Amino acid sequence: MSWDALYSSAFREVRGRIGRVGRVLLAYNTNIDAVKYLNSDDLEGRIRETGVEEVLRYSDELPGRITSLEHLFGGILWSVKRGKAAELFVESCSVRFYMKRWGWDELRMGGQAGIMANLLGGVYGVPVVVHAPQISKLQGELFKDGPIYVPKVEGGKLTFVHPREFAGDEENCIHYIYEFPRGFRVLGFEAPRENRFIGSADDYNPHLYIRPEFREHFEEIGEKVELGIISGLQALTRENYREAIEEVKRHLEILSERNVPVHLEFAFTPDETVRKALVDMLGSFHSVGLNEVELASVMDVMGERALSEKLLAEDPVDPIAVTEAMLKLAEKTGIRRIHFHTYGYYLALTDYGGEFVRDALLFASLAAAAKAKLGDVRSIEDVVKAMDVPVNPKARGVEEKLREEYGMEEGTALVNNHHLSFVPTKIVTRPKSTVGIGDTISSSAFVGEFALS
Ligand code: ADP
Repeated sequence: MSWDALYSSAFREVRGRIGRVGRVLLAYNTNIDAVKYLNSDDLEGRIRETGVEEVLRYSDELPGRITSLEHLFGGILWSVKRGKAAELFVESCSVRFYMKRWGWDELRMGGQAGIMANLLGGVYGVPVVVHAPQISKLQGELFKDGPIYVPKVEGGKLTFVHPREFAGDEENCIHYIYEFPRGFRVLGFEAPRENRFIGSADDYNPHLYIRPEFREHFEEIGEKVELGIISGLQALTRENYREAIEEVKRHLEILSERNVPVHLEFAFTPDETVRKALVDMLGSFHSVGLNEVELASVMDVMGERALSEKLLAEDPVDPIAVTEAMLKLAEKTGIRRIHFHTYGYYLALTDYGGEFVRDALLFASLAAAAKAKLGDVRSIEDVVKAMDVPVNPKARGVEEKLREEYGMEEGTALVNNHHLSFVPTKIVTRPKSTVGIGDTISSSAFVGEFALS
């Protein structure tokens, strides 16, 4: 069968069966993304008011956190000059107040758990229970309609309500996202590519704050779910990770007693001690999702420097190096499923197999392309609108390498007692939006696989 035929049949299968998936637990990070598209004159005026010299200093060397306007503008300029993303915690209340008055153009759901809740619950109609560290009125409003629930304790009794009905009056966790296009000019600098600088006014997500409903009633919550997706551990540091990780481990134990498969969405974790701790606990998960930079960073803490370098050396990423890295990770940790995604193709290594693993990847690729093409995917029917997006031509070489090395056919092969699944992805040349596209890929593939199995 051609890839196009495989794509359509995978979509039909998943769409027909996704209604069977039971409740999915999504924890732990949700926040409010306040997006501002930077304007050169406005930004330059504000930098002059603050003091050009001081701001320039921080645009050479990023401060550790933001405690002044010089830090804020220095951070923005650091990103613009390099065309690179950066994210800093905003500690000072007066800077937070300044950012609020400066305003935003758009408010969006942020945080992997929040984004996945809107996709799985709001678009696919799969019931989800989500951990939102703070439920403010604004945060509640960013959840789509659909079977999306948060636990609520009333009179000692646990119930589940839509986040809007939770009627929370808690704090806003706002991530201010300052976006600039390629060629954006300020103070004689020019952005080599489009990107963003993030200042997070969020006292909850970075420390992995876990709500009392989840601390005190997790046994009951665990009884209500069939699958779990965990994310949001990436901002922990060697100073604060121990307590948070202990609570996560307790949750995993409860879920494992009930045989609930749990996926870890592995975002880039800068702190090496925390990254190592996450690798050490991978055996408690059924599945993990990562991109090439994240897989390379995992190889680094496993002492596999050469392999790590290989993963970042070629474009598209060498699939043989990816497979070797996934085998090493599976063998070291015992994790049953590893889903790797990169620009152009996905690979999954599983200790169980069948075409359904590959078909779930195809569904995920279609969902990602639909998101890139349409910006907002409103229903599962929208996903099929990406069928006309062409498969990435560069993936042909990748497929050829996998055929030569492992005898792969139609995207499946057996490698060292593991099943390897491959799909060439559909790539939208002028995407409307790629925010949260990695979360779309991983959650669609994981949930899609359980719909098919
Ligand atoms: P993010 O953290 O921004 O979600 P990830 O690296 O986790 O980033 O995910 C990005 C993935 O999205 C890439 O690996 C690629 O597979 C996919 N992707 C990126 N751009 C496009 C596009 N224009 N069309 C389709 N898929 C895309």
